[in-house]
Amino acid sequence: MGNIAAAGTHSPDPGSWDCRAGDGPWPCDVARESLRSEYQGDRLSLAMLMGGYLAAFTKEKPGSTDSVARFVGWTRSPRPAATPPLFQS
Ligand SMILES: [Zn+2]
Repeated sequence: MGNIAAAGTHSPDPGSWDCRAGDGPWPCDVARESLRSEYQGDRLSLAMLMGGYLAAFTKEKPGSTDSVARFVGWTRSPRPAATPPLFQS
């Protein structure tokens, strides 16, 4: 997986899904920050990328709890953007 270059050594170890830099479950804080800045303003692409990791993780470690929050939850905006009404009469 070479598509998280900005995260540097903070990439997932394929077997354990821990950060290769050794600071815990991936994505660690450093990896999240790197990905956030890399995908700034494009949360959809970031969520899709992380959704791919989530799918791979779930396949390898079925039954894990909190995996959605771990991989995808943090990609959402802390402040949801105002959604304009779809229809106005
Ligand atoms: Zn890390």
